[in-house]
Amino acid sequence: MWDQLEGTFDLLVIGGGITGAGIARDAARRGLRVAVAEMNDLAYGTSSRSSKLIHGGLRYLEQYEFSLVFESVSERRILQDIAPHLVNPMGFLFPVYKGARKPLWMIHTGIRLYEGLALFRSPKRPRKLKPSDVAEVEPALDRGNLKGAPLYYDCATDDARLTLETALDAAEKGAVIATWGKVTSFVKDDKGRITGVVIKDELGGELREVSARAVINATGPWTDQTISMSRSLSSGSILRPTKGVHVVVEREKLPIHNAVVCFHPTDSRVLFAIPWGDRTYIGTTDTDYEGDPGDVAATLEDVDYLIDAANHYFPAHQLVRDDVLSTWAGIRPLMAPQDEGGELSESAVSREHQILVGHDGLITIAGGKLTTYRRMAAEVVDTASRLIELSGEALEMDAPRTDKDPLPGARGWPADDDHEAVADDVSKAGHPHVPDDVARNLGDTYGMRALDIAKRVAADRSLGERLVPARPEILAQVDWAVERELAATLCDVLIRRTQLFFRDTDQGLGAVPVIADRMAKLLGWDDETKQREIARYQDEVALSRRWRDGLPERASTSPTVNA
Ligand code: FAD
Repeated sequence: MWDQLEGTFDLLVIGGGITGAGIARDAARRGLRVAVAEMNDLAYGTSSRSSKLIHGGLRYLEQYEFSLVFESVSERRILQDIAPHLVNPMGFLFPVYKGARKPLWMIHTGIRLYEGLALFRSPKRPRKLKPSDVAEVEPALDRGNLKGAPLYYDCATDDARLTLETALDAAEKGAVIATWGKVTSFVKDDKGRITGVVIKDELGGELREVSARAVINATGPWTDQTISMSRSLSSGSILRPTKGVHVVVEREKLPIHNAVVCFHPTDSRVLFAIPWGDRTYIGTTDTDYEGDPGDVAATLEDVDYLIDAANHYFPAHQLVRDDVLSTWAGIRPLMAPQDEGGELSESAVSREHQILVGHDGLITIAGGKLTTYRRMAAEVVDTASRLIELSGEALEMDAPRTDKDPLPGARGWPADDDHEAVADDVSKAGHPHVPDDVARNLGDTYGMRALDIAKRVAADRSLGERLVPARPEILAQVDWAVERELAATLCDVLIRRTQLFFRDTDQGLGAVPVIADRMAKLLGWDDETKQREIARYQDEVALSRRWRDGLPERASTSPTVNA
């Protein structure tokens, strides 16, 4: 893609998170010439570190954010249609105990309102569970003093993959997606208006000037840095970034069947425990964050806070620190409230987005949610097109149909959303080298594109080798990531393409030698590059385990690789 950064683009988007990818998809589908410069991998920032929910956010009703909830539940429906393989209905059980911050009737009323805002088109109808029902539905949950537990439905997703497929769809329509390309400065004309950017190839070191009619800042937690690089707005700081941490444990350590919504026992903040295949994750914290977004990590305090909540609600399944397999920490790029007066708590800061245009023409989009990215993207492209036309240049645009046309993996997906039927087809396509668990994982991850991966394995059984014994990820996924999914580093493959970083008991370290060898072969790495890649992955693992510093070493906590 790097060599396609030639000529003048209509739009140049800085940032390849869900916002930047969404803008590229919308713009490319309107027929605009668009490029994305992402300084790391797609979804390297917040878009791979969310709670992975496509939801209206029941809790935002408490803050009267009705329009945000309405927009979000409408988008949930659309995303289920265009990405059914990635956006999956999930039950949310909301246990209400005697003396709770919100009484049971109020939660039921909130859910009725939530249903109404979704025009009664939720993934499934909600139910009112009595404590005796809870014993069957969610036996691990504490039932002492339980008054009842509404069960409602939202959706879960793979945030990094939703971003990736959005970008891949944009690329199919002509967008240039330059990953590992960092915007280091702006190019301006003699009136001070931005006419392009300088992009640095973070892997090769080359600098390249790229011209564009409009430049969009979609850099999430880095928004303020990007603005100060352009000196585009008089106020250098428009964000109030907050950090959110999740911890991952084995599913059998916290055996739940639905997402469980609860109030933290000490500060009454809303938290989730979410089933995730053979794992469960718990999150999130919400604390103001001032450091470098690239250095964000869980602290011991964050981990203990989450474990304490889980132990309160699941008393028969007491978690200890050593049960934590992995953690992730992300930064919410929230807009700083104008009339805050320093009094607003982190969780009360609005999730609404804003679009700002600087005096040099830089268009900044900040705030918002993963769930609402498609609408945010359309608004930004509208703004950019108006700016271009105001400067006297005509644009002829097609209807983008981002709400109708499926993402790449969803093309041909069964109308009844039958994941098992897809897995059967994948298994047949890879016969006899794709066992059931592998087929299911491929189908759930890649949608209908899994058939092509399975066919590769049928043609070359060595590609069916498991990356970790007893786990479903296979070698063919490394090839696919490199050849078809813009993966360029070991971190790209282990963290965001296969998720071994989060799901494997040793965070994929045991698989590093095999994956590094394969990538070296595919990408022509010399030994020095390979060792540098391995070291970089070890650093990422170490960052995610930094909360353990000073604690007694667990057998598998040293992030070293024997390669
Ligand atoms: P990012 O994903 O951070 O993307 C910005 C990108 O810009 C980065 O990849 C970065 O590398 C790149 N960049 C920065 N500077 C440069 C530069 N100079 N040159 C090139 N590239 C650059 N939303 C939901 O809807 N559902 C949820 O369940 C949910 N849970 C959340 C939980 C947590 C803990 C957090 C933190 C957020 C959550 N959100 C959720 C919100 C959602 O994740 C974010 O709103 C969304 O991911 C932001 O995407 P983005 O593209 O704006 O930012």
